[in-house]
Amino acid sequence: MGVAGVDGSSIASSVLVVEDERRIARLIELELVHEGFHVELAFDGATGLRLALEKNFGVILLDLMLPGMSGLEVCRTLRKQKRTPIIILTARDSTGDKVEGLDAGADDYVTKPFVTDELLARIRAALRRGMAREELVAFDLQVFPEERRAVRAGQNLELTTREFDLLHFLLRNVDKVLSRDVILRRVWGYDFEGETNVVDVYIRYLRMKVDEPFSTPLIHTIRGVGYVLRRP
Ligand code: CA
Repeated sequence: MGVAGVDGSSIASSVLVVEDERRIARLIELELVHEGFHVELAFDGATGLRLALEKNFGVILLDLMLPGMSGLEVCRTLRKQKRTPIIILTARDSTGDKVEGLDAGADDYVTKPFVTDELLARIRAALRRGMAREELVAFDLQVFPEERRAVRAGQNLELTTREFDLLHFLLRNVDKVLSRDVILRRVWGYDFEGETNVVDVYIRYLRMKVDEPFSTPLIHTIRGVGYVLRRP
């Protein structure tokens, strides 16, 4: 288990591009990196699926015509386990392909050759939708971001805005050790100028509500590093 860096923890800005035409893949990568996204490339379906299952991406751009495992197979297989937003990239613009892609669990499609601005707009929209419908569960803890509601063992947790934001961030990075600095920057913001022990104070508040009334603690201190919300 490593310490999540600022990049590693920003799922919402990471994009997986699964595209066998390397020139196109590199072009997309260049545009996305320019827009501030973290990008990973896969040049075949099986690699794309493995990365999509192993890591948490904000959105996946998926070509349909891939060597070996097709884009549709990747889509169907991934959907059995994860709801990461998928945008299909396809050179084929027949209605049938689009319908098949959407039926396989894709969220949207872009026809190649695409206009970069349109692709970026669709990525941003998919990221927004993905974040809103995110299912955040660890053991008996559930967080519903859209409703800003947290539930443990069927009981609603009464959290302040900051406590909710902190719990949401910890849960989005479940099993990942987060330094105080990363938590501070991501939950309180880059321009926060208060005391850094504010993180410790809020972790204490959270524990009183999230852990202490229940028998299994989920929030753990990693001495000298920071905190982790860990599945028991
Ligand atoms: Ca292709």
